[in-house]
Amino acid sequence: MSEKDANVISGMVLRGSRNVFTVRPDCADAAGAPGALECRLKGKVLKGAEGFYNPLAPGDRVKAQIDPEHTGTGMIVAMEERRNIFTRYNQKGGCSQLIAANVDQVFCIATRRSPPFRPRFLDRVLLQADIAEIPAIIVCNKIDLDDGDGGDRLDADERLEDFRRIGYEIVEVSARTGQGLDLLRARLAGKHSVLTGQSGVGKSSLLNALVPGLDIKVGAVNEKYDRGNHTTTLAAMIELAQTPSGFSLLEPGDAQTAASADTWIIDTPGMRRFVPDGIDKETLIAHMREFEPLAGKCSYGLSCSHRREPGCKILEAVHAGAIHEDRYESFLRIFDELAGKIAGKHNAD
Ligand code: GDP
Repeated sequence: MSEKDANVISGMVLRGSRNVFTVRPDCADAAGAPGALECRLKGKVLKGAEGFYNPLAPGDRVKAQIDPEHTGTGMIVAMEERRNIFTRYNQKGGCSQLIAANVDQVFCIATRRSPPFRPRFLDRVLLQADIAEIPAIIVCNKIDLDDGDGGDRLDADERLEDFRRIGYEIVEVSARTGQGLDLLRARLAGKHSVLTGQSGVGKSSLLNALVPGLDIKVGAVNEKYDRGNHTTTLAAMIELAQTPSGFSLLEPGDAQTAASADTWIIDTPGMRRFVPDGIDKETLIAHMREFEPLAGKCSYGLSCSHRREPGCKILEAVHAGAIHEDRYESFLRIFDELAGKIAGKHNAD
C-alpha cells in the first residue's frame, strides 16, 4: 500500500452542506483519524453523484483521504454504490435533491391536529418511498391532544383508517406523555431510518424523547445541527446504540462508534411541501398502492386523464370505494403537476 493509500479511509456521511460533509470513519482510529472528519469534495464532480442538487446525503458511504496537515479534515475521493436514495424534486434547481441514502425505512410523522392533519403530504412521502422501493411507516404524534371529537379529528381518523386499509402501519405516539414510544423504538431499532414530516409535527420532540441527551432544539426548525463551522439545514444522521433502557447517543468522537452503533436515524428539516421525484404521469399509478393493480387497464390507456373517460378504471375504483376520494384528489394534483400543467404553482400540499 502506498503512503497515499494509507491515508484513505472508508466511512459514512453523517451530514453536510452542499460542499462540506462530516464523515465518520468506519474505524475510529483509522490512520490516526479523529471520530469525524470535515471533508470537501475532490474536484467538482463525484463519480456516481452527478446531476443531483447536492452530491451526497447522510447515509452515503465514501472514501476520504485524510489531510495530514490539518487534523480532522479530509477530501472525499470516491462514493460507494448506493443501495437506494430517498429524494425529492428540487424545483429551484430543476433536479433531484438527495435527502438520505442507503436506508431501510422511511417514517412520515404527522399529527391529527396542531398542525392540522395534512394527508396530501403523507401521500407524497409515501409515493416517494414507493418510487425508491423503501418501506414506509406513518407515525401519528401528539395523541395526547386527540381528546374531543371535532370534525377535523374525524376527517383525520377516516383518512388514517384508509392508510391502514391499503396496508400502511400507523404508530400512534405522544412525545409529551411517552405513549407509544416503545413501539416506535422497536421499529427503529437496528435499522437505518429517515424521518420526514412537516414543520411542527414534533419530530425533534420525538427524537429527544427517544434518545436521552440528544437535546435538539424544540420549536426551532432550522440550524438544529449547526455546530459552528457551517450552517446545516439539510438532513443529519444520528447514530445510536441500544441499551437495556432504550437508545444511547453516540457522538462521532466516541472511540467505539463504528462498532457499536446499530441504529441510525436521519433527521430531516421540517418540509413545507414535497414534490415527487423520479416519475412521470404515466408511471404515477404504479407507485400508489391501491391504484397499482389498475395500471394500464383504462380503455384509453396512457392517454386517459382519469377524470371523465368512459372505461377509466381509476374512476370506477373511486366510485366503488376501492380508492378513497381524497387519495384520488391527491393523485390528480400530482398527475397534473407531473404533466407540467401547474408547474411552479404548487400550494403547500
Ligand atoms: P418539529 O418541527 O417537527 O421538530 O417539531 P418540534 O419537536 O419542534 O415541536 C413543535 C411543537 O410541538 C413544540 O411546541 C412541542 O413542544 C410540541 N409537541 C411536540 N410533540 C408533542 C406531543 O406529543 N404532544 C403535544 N401536546 N405537543 C407536542
